[in-house]
Order: sequence, then C-alpha cells, then structure tokens
Amino acid sequence: MHRRDFLKAAGIAGVSLPAVHTLARSGGREWLRSEDLYGGFTVERSTGDEKQYSIDEATYRRFQEKNTMFSRAHWDPLTQEMRRELSGIEIKRIQNHDPGFTLIDYAFNLAAWTGSGIPNFYRWTSGRGHSDTAVFDRPPLNPADFSPLELTAIIKKAALFFGASLVGTTTLNEKWVYTDAYYRSHERGNHRGPIEAKLSIEELDDPVKLSDDNRARIPKACRYVISLVYEMDPDASEVAPSCIAAAATASGYARMALTTGTLAAFIRNLGYRAIPMGNDTALSIPIAIDAGLGELGRNGLLVTPKYGSRVRLSKLFTDLPLVPDQPIRFGVTEFCDTCKKCASLCPSGSIMSGPRTREADNMSTNPGVLKWPIDAFACYRFWHENGTDCNTCIYVCPYNKPQSWLHDAARNLIAAKNETLNRAILGLDNACGYGKPGSADNYWKKNAFMHIKS
Ligand code: SF4
Ligand code: SF4
Repeated sequence: MHRRDFLKAAGIAGVSLPAVHTLARSGGREWLRSEDLYGGFTVERSTGDEKQYSIDEATYRRFQEKNTMFSRAHWDPLTQEMRRELSGIEIKRIQNHDPGFTLIDYAFNLAAWTGSGIPNFYRWTSGRGHSDTAVFDRPPLNPADFSPLELTAIIKKAALFFGASLVGTTTLNEKWVYTDAYYRSHERGNHRGPIEAKLSIEELDDPVKLSDDNRARIPKACRYVISLVYEMDPDASEVAPSCIAAAATASGYARMALTTGTLAAFIRNLGYRAIPMGNDTALSIPIAIDAGLGELGRNGLLVTPKYGSRVRLSKLFTDLPLVPDQPIRFGVTEFCDTCKKCASLCPSGSIMSGPRTREADNMSTNPGVLKWPIDAFACYRFWHENGTDCNTCIYVCPYNKPQSWLHDAARNLIAAKNETLNRAILGLDNACGYGKPGSADNYWKKNAFMHIKS
C-alpha cells in the first residue's frame, strides 16, 4: 500500500481539527464560525494577502530585545533604581495579611513558574542524550507522501495535544524579528547573562542561538511560523492585581515552555529544524495576528475571539512546509475606539485613552505601526508597588467572557463594528458590573472542599 493511502486508511492524513464553518463569501472576504476556535464570534477573514496593520515603512524600526521591560530590569539604571526603592513590599504585604498577598498566595505564584525554568525547552537544536534527534535522514518526509496541508493539520493537532489552547500558522515576516537578542540568564544558553547578540537570517544549515562572536543566526529556510496561544485560568485571572492572578500568568509561561519545546522535539524527530521561542527573538503578538489568532487591543495585547486577552503566547520557526492561515477581524479596533475600559481601570495610567498613533513615546515600543503604545515603565513600576504583576487590563476587557447565549448575542453585535451598538454593549457591560476584581478568599474557597471527605 502507498504510504499516503496507508495514512488515509489509518485516519492520520485526515487529522481532526476544530471545525470551521464558512457562513458567506463576498468581495475577497469570508465570514466564519467555529465554537472551538472563535468562541461565539463570527469572524471575517480576507481570502487574499491583506495584512491587519498599517505600517509606515519610512519610520518603522525593528525592535531590540534589550528594550523590553524584563530586559531593562538588567541594565536600565532608572529601572534598577526603582526596583531598589520598592524592594521589600512583598514581605510587608505578607505581614499585613493582605488578601491575595498572603504567604500561601506568594508560594502559589512562585510555584506556578517552576515549569518555565526547566532548562532546554527553548533550545534551538537537538541536544545530545535528548529524545529529539531525527529518526530518519533529512529529509525524512517525502513530499509525495504528505501535502503541506496534511502536515499543517498534523502539526496543529500535535500542538493542541502538547498543551496549546489555540494554534495558527504563518510565514516569517522579518519585521517582527528583533535586531538583537538579549540573553539575560543561563537558562537561555550555556553562559552567564546578560549578553546582546546581533540577530540575522542567513543561508545556513542549523540555527545558532549564541555563537562565540555573540551572534544569533536563523536559517533562511526556517520561514514557516507556528503561533501558539495558551488560555490563562479564568478564576485565578479575575483576582487581579494579586499573586493569584499572577499565578495564572506564571502557569501560562510554564505551559509555553513545555508545549513549545515538545513541539520542537516532534518536528526535529521528523528531520526538520525547529526554533522554539517564548517572548524572545521576535514579537509574538504581530506573529499571532498574522496567524489568524486575534487582533491588537488598546491594552497592547492580543485579543482573541475565544479568550479575549486572557492568554499567553509562544512561537516556533521551522523549515517544515506549512500552509499559512489568514488574519481575522471581529471588531476589536472599532470596539477599543469606544470602550477604553482598560485605560480607565489601569492602576498606573499606562494605557492611552486617545486615538492610535505611529509615534514611539518610550523605549519599550517601536515606531511606524499604528497602535496604542503602552507605557511599559509605569506598568512595571506598578507591579513593584503592588508586590506582584497586575493583569487588570486582561481581566476587565469585555472580550474576556465565558460563552453564553447573551454574550454570543453581544459578540455578534460587536462584529458589526457600529459605534452606536458598541456604546450600547459597553453600557450593558458596565451595568452588569463586569470588570470588578474577584476576591482572593472566594478563589481559595470555590470548590475547595469537594475532594475532602467530611
Ligand atoms: S498590567 Fe496593570 S498596570 Fe500594566 S497596563 Fe495592564 S492594567 Fe495597567
Ligand atoms: S478593555 Fe476595551 S479598550 Fe481595552 S482592549 Fe478590551 S475592548 Fe479594547
């Protein structure tokens, strides 16, 4: 039996993925529904090459990883001084028995990070003694046996199996790759950080994460990108800004590392290259937008139809040929124009309430893309005043809602992109009391005793 026939007979070639229903097609667009992918939204997708953002090529600058807030903590004197000034808040909050900041809450949050620190999940090549060494000579997969569409379906199925909540594919846009990587701990290479490494895309066989001459090299052939989304726990996320909501973030980072590293091992076992990444090396949000997973919100985060911004992101570059997804629209830009809820409830005033701009008003954002830049320093300062990270802009966003017939009705009105309807929906959201933080006490008590014998 031919290999493809064998796979079809075994049901592997027809890997089952979330069903997407096309409701209508017109003028180069299609309207889609999928409970699994889009929750209760009907999304609009271009059938052509249309991109989602407006870029001014003359002013656009690729970003330097050194300027992310987490990197700045290692070199920026202003950030370091702020951290010194605010150190010790955690102990005070524990001693005060502040709800959401008790010893239990801090222990819970720190423990949730554990999986993200396991070495080697973000390796760029196989390691000796590891399981991800190609089991065939390269190229092991005969293109006659698998079409890119079949391979894409298999990779997506595997990504969901390994722990992603959503997965999309796109091709590499070099604009989103950092100009320089910033390695700040031993976990990102066998060295002591921080080290700046010039990032380049070159004709070469294997990726180089950090060479002796401080360069990071991505093979040109790794032009296919897998974007991975992880839902953060809804109950924990609502206790923002506290260690409980922070644990939802931390647990997302742990799943990112495990899932992305495991998917990389799967791809390497097939004889292809795989470069797994967390927040490093390239901008995760525009990649996820290209891969059809959501739109950019006023809060500076990816807004997905199914989970809102209550997600974490990772990505993987590979030379395994994949069929790219198309970007989607479901009214986020228009709703954010009206809503501004994240801006008014942000405790640090880091989110703009005005219109989008191409200006970069601080070093942790880059110019040229029309968006709402965030004041990352003010946000990070609040985290230190608060004693842990925040998540308020994730929790309060009206897109962060469980599915119900009422919420689905609102979703369909939002997708109409009508300002009057958007104002009415926002009024209802406020009238229903959405956006108020949950209580730490309730978090620990909810369902807590169901596994204890009385
Ligand atoms: S995490 Fe908190 S402080 Fe930072 S932008 Fe969001 S709401 Fe503001
Ligand atoms: S809270 Fe409102 S303005 Fe902010 S991202 Fe969500 S929808 Fe947009």
